[in-house]
This record gives sequence, structure tokens and C-alpha cells, in this order.
Amino acid sequence: MQVKAPRGTYDIMPDEIYKWHQLEQIIRTTAETFGYAEIRTPIFEHTELFERGVGDTTDIVSKEMYTFLDRSNRSLTLRPENTASCVRAFIEHSVAGGVLPVKWYYMGPMFRYDRPQAGRYRQFHQFGVEAFGSDNPALDAEVISLVLEILANLGLQEYELHLNSVGCPECRELYRQQLISHIRPVKDKLCTDCQTRFEKNPLRVLDCKVASCQEAIAGFPNMYDYLCPGCSKHYSRVQSILTDVGIAYIHDNQLVRGLDYYTNTAFEIMIPLIGAQSAVAGGGRYNGLVKECGGPQMPGIGFAMGLERLLLAMNSQENSRTNPGQLDVFLALLDEKNETRAAHILSGLRRAGIRADRDYNHRSAKAQMKYADKMGARLVLLLGEDEIQKGVVTIRDMQTRQQSEVSNEALIAAIKAILE
Ligand code: ATP
Ligand code: MG
Repeated sequence: MQVKAPRGTYDIMPDEIYKWHQLEQIIRTTAETFGYAEIRTPIFEHTELFERGVGDTTDIVSKEMYTFLDRSNRSLTLRPENTASCVRAFIEHSVAGGVLPVKWYYMGPMFRYDRPQAGRYRQFHQFGVEAFGSDNPALDAEVISLVLEILANLGLQEYELHLNSVGCPECRELYRQQLISHIRPVKDKLCTDCQTRFEKNPLRVLDCKVASCQEAIAGFPNMYDYLCPGCSKHYSRVQSILTDVGIAYIHDNQLVRGLDYYTNTAFEIMIPLIGAQSAVAGGGRYNGLVKECGGPQMPGIGFAMGLERLLLAMNSQENSRTNPGQLDVFLALLDEKNETRAAHILSGLRRAGIRADRDYNHRSAKAQMKYADKMGARLVLLLGEDEIQKGVVTIRDMQTRQQSEVSNEALIAAIKAILE
């Protein structure tokens, strides 16, 4: 029986990998220009970390985690997101004692038992940032502008930025009570998920995707009207900075994070043209999270973006990305006697950082040219008896179709000149 990749996972084949390399490179460079440094945390963690750090009433923890017992009966979980791990590392390495804020980014695979479809997988990739140690609304605006800068650098223009404030535990409590008392009378019209969670986590009903839930809560009070003076001021500052730097946003009362450690700013970025799974990034402030995970009281803010959805967006619009091919130079061996010479040339090229390869399968001269083309080689080096006699190599430019003889000594310089 043939074994296939598990449902919701996929292979990135070598002829597609250049797209990932380009995407990752642009993201890294952009994040680094904003002063973020990379952190890499383990792929699995103690299950408890996510129960606390993500929250056990969230979909992620209640139904999407890959949890298993290891051979010593510890409960471990493949990370469904990376914020909790960053918080754990922040606490574990006593980073709070150093210079603040610290600005971290991460990029890598995440695992969720989601329903697989376009833009939704069980192993998928996120890039994200976390900035710990400042409550300045200017940092909220900077984090948002980083997402938009990445989209711009990827050539993605058509997005929507949704923005809201979820207040702080104090003002949100008043709102929560209000919301519960409004929901209770219409409870029967809610989906089963919302019926069970609304007492514990009424804010989640606001962003429930089920249409009947949205109808049932139409006209209900908004968090915005309950913000305390401090939270209201914070939100106004974020909005005015965004406006000042020319970033358009949509104030969205339905955009919430239902847990107590999320505070103030919440945002989400949608690219409608990629279809149903249009959210490419989501984030916000979490001034209570570090403490919730056992650390000091410490403000924080971050976001995560889905790389598969960015690729979908990039593929669905015209852009100039081209496959750089696998090789710069292909060495066509026209006579087996020239093996030693070929080996010397190849190792010289590779040491000079030129991507070079040769034929190993005894192909004819013509078949070698075809193969070179398939590998994307810009140049083919022809090495026959004639060349060996003269101490030269013939360089064939696959773009211009021109050929020239170059002495062995001048070979690498000549190739570099053409490749540049
Ligand atoms: P959704 O409502 O689409 O399930 P989410 O609220 O679960 O999103 P977050 O936890 O905020 O998503 O993750 C941030 C980003 O990661 C999302 O905006 C999305 O781009 C991406 N993402 C989340 N889950 C998946 C998945 N299963 N497959 C691919 N990308 C995902
Ligand atoms: Mg989800």
C-alpha cells in the first residue's frame, strides 16, 4: 500500500521552493529594517503552555491541537501558534531584566486540526512578531505598519485593515455583563458553540461566523462605547498615528479577542481576492499575557500572518517573480576521457559560489543541452577533445546562443562577468 502525506499537509516541491525563498527573504528583510530579531522556539511544548497562553475556551485549544503523550507520559503539543512559546522564552530567559522593548520575529510551521481547504491546512506556516516592554500606542501603529510594509514589498496592494479596541479587563468586564444580558434572551437563536460559550466568553459570539448568530446580535452594544478613559485615549492615539502616516483602516466592532490578557488594540488584515480564507494576518495587544504565563506584569503586542495565504494572493495577481532555476552553469562532457579536467573545473566553479553541475548519465551532446536548459542553466561549458588540446573551454550562452572560447585560467572571471 502506498503511504501518502497526512490530510492537511503537503510537500513543497523543489520547483516551487523559489517562491518560498523569495517570500521568506522579503519578510525577513522587512522585519529586520523595523528592528526585529529572529527567535526560534521548539516545535512542541508542554500542553499546559497553550492552555494558559492561548486560552482553553479558544477554538485552537478546545478543538485544534495535536496533543500527545511522550514515552514518559508528559502531555506535549505541536505548537498551534508561536506567541505562547515566545512568552515562555521571554520569561525563561529573564529578558525583562534587560533593555526594553525587545522585538522578536519568528517564522515556521504551526499545527492545527483545522478543516483542510484552500488556504487552510493542518501544517501551515506563520511569520509573526512580538514586542515586549512598551505600552506606547506608537508601537501598536508600528506593528500594524510592519504588516502593511510586508504586503507592499510583496506587491500586494488590495487589502483591508480592520481595527478595534477590546479595552482592558476593567472596562471589558462591564461590557461583558451587558453583552451577556443582551444575549441571554436570544440564546436559542445561537449556534450550539455560542450557546455553550456565551456565559464564559460572550465576546466570541461577536466574531462567530455563523449567520444566525450575527443576525441574533445585530444592534447589540459595542465595546467602543464602554472603553474607560485610559483605553479610549490609547485607541484614539493609535487611530490618529495611523491616519497621520496615511494608513486607512476600518473600525470593526465585531473584531474581538475574547480573553482577559488581550487588551486595547486588535487588528486583522484581509485580502478579499483570495476567497473565503481571506484573513492574512491578525494581531493585537496582550498586556496581561506575560503575567498570565507566570512572568512579571509586562505589556506586549504582536501579530501572526499566514504564509500560504500570502502565496495564494501573490499567485492570484500578476507579478514578475521568475524561477531563478537550479543552476548557473552546466558542464557538458563530450568525452569521458575528460573526467579529471571536468572535476577540476566543477570544483573551481563551486568554490567560487557558482551553481554548477554536469551530466552523470552518459547523455548525448544534444541531450545534455536539453538537460541544461531544463535545469535553468544560463551557461553551458563544452569540454571536448579539441578544448583539452588547446587548454580552453567553450562557453555557450543559452540566452544569446553565442559561443566563445576562454582559457582555463580566465574561465571563472569570464563566467562571473556574464552572470552579473
Ligand atoms: P481563521 O479564522 O482563518 O481560522 P485564526 O483566527 O485561527 O484564522 P490566527 O490564529 O489569528 O488565525 O492566525 C494568524 C493567521 O494565520 C491567519 O490570519 C491565517 O492567515 C493563518 N492561519 C491560521 N490558521 C491557518 C490554517 N489552518 N492554515 C493556513 N493558515 C492559517
Ligand atoms: Mg482558526
